[in-house]
Amino acid sequence: MPDFSLDLNEDQLQLQKWIHDFAEDVMRPNAHEWDEREETPWPIIEEAAKVGLYGVDFIFNAFSDPTGITLPMVNEELFWGDAGIGLSIFGSVLAVAGIVANGTPEQVMEWVPVCFGTPDDIKLAAFGVSEPDAGSDVSSLRTKAVYDEAKDEWVLNGTKTWITNGGIAHTHVIVASVDPKLGARGQASFVVPEGTPGIRQGQKFKKHGIRASHTAEVVLEDCRVPGRCLLGGKDKLDERLARAREGKKANVQAAMATFEATRPSVGAQAVGIARAAYEYSLDYAKERKQFGRAIIENQAIAFKLADMKTRIDASRLLVWRAAWMGKAGKKFESGEGSMSKLYAGETAVWVTEQAIQILGGYGYVREYPVERWHRDAKIYTIFEGTSEIQRLVIARAISGVHIN
Ligand SMILES: Cc1cc2nc3c(=O)[nH]c(=O)nc-3n(C[C@H](O)[C@H](O)[C@H](O)COP(=O)(O)OP(=O)(O)OC[C@H]3O[C@@H](n4cnc5c(N)ncnc54)[C@H](O)[C@@H]3O)c2cc1C
Repeated sequence: MPDFSLDLNEDQLQLQKWIHDFAEDVMRPNAHEWDEREETPWPIIEEAAKVGLYGVDFIFNAFSDPTGITLPMVNEELFWGDAGIGLSIFGSVLAVAGIVANGTPEQVMEWVPVCFGTPDDIKLAAFGVSEPDAGSDVSSLRTKAVYDEAKDEWVLNGTKTWITNGGIAHTHVIVASVDPKLGARGQASFVVPEGTPGIRQGQKFKKHGIRASHTAEVVLEDCRVPGRCLLGGKDKLDERLARAREGKKANVQAAMATFEATRPSVGAQAVGIARAAYEYSLDYAKERKQFGRAIIENQAIAFKLADMKTRIDASRLLVWRAAWMGKAGKKFESGEGSMSKLYAGETAVWVTEQAIQILGGYGYVREYPVERWHRDAKIYTIFEGTSEIQRLVIARAISGVHIN
């Protein structure tokens, strides 16, 4: 396992430049249009697939990087380009993470490629956990999965909400309750393959930010999937349920490690948005003249930029540390994954607001991108665990106390 290093290796530097060029040349010029259209930017995803940035090989390469830093680095660069478009591309990766975390090696090989399709026939995937009455409290899911032994099929019923790519995805990974009495320990994840009857999109949401990313309800009505779509397999599930019913302790550390390991990548997306706003407002502050001098010559503006840069760098350091720890199999003693997502998410909101202030009226209107970055940043204190939930994880980890 490589030691922690802040030096990107030659491969990573090349990859970073390649993604930066894509973000700058393809994503940035189209960001405003797709934000206004509030639709999935299919042509950009097609372009990403054509150059090899959206696809199974790309993701397996990024996942297999031994330093752990490649995935956050990729996320930062893409989301520097545009967060809404970035999330349209990365929504499929959420489903992939669900498959990799819970599936057998055979299931990973079968289902991950279909999440992306091919450059000539692009597919999207979605990961559905949240429900109208189960957001932060994921132990109270109402979506039920019932096994039909005669047909070796699982029957899913329920409504998922806020699902990125929900309903337009070809493949959905759905978390459902098999035994509601057992809370989170009675849940399992299911792949709903393309063309399965009984799954449909419900309401599509109009959002504050990341508007190029599709967010919708997913309704499951007697949606039947073959037994092999249960991630991890039936024997493992039966074993887990039996342990839970006997009141035996669950392997909480394993579940925790999965969450903690995916959070740094989400934090890296927030770093990308914050960096975009910082760079833009730094340039602007050097150009804009009031009272006969550039506004950056005022400490009030220059110190803002100093704080913005400091917080962005601190966020990235937390993100890289957590990503490296996850890869190296280190124990997250203090909720380090949550720390990275918490700090980066709140930094993105704060930095983008400072950027609006630096641009004054120009920061407040849609002709300039800073206003969009601020709207985009806000989701990072809400999804993938709200800021309050991240603090809860950290507080419990450092204290050993079950804080509510
Ligand atoms: C644009 C978007 C995309 C999303 N994409 C997906 C997706 O692809 N898949 C998916 O499954 N979900 C997705 N989500 C759902 C997201 O993860 C949830 O919105 C989030 O977990 C919060 O749940 P909630 O909205 O029900 O809020 P609630 O859980 O109702 O929380 C409301 C408020 O109460 C606070 N709160 C709740 N419990 C506690 C507590 N114990 N202590 C302190 N404060 C608490 C929260 O922090 C928050 O401030 C998405 C959401 C959005 C908005």
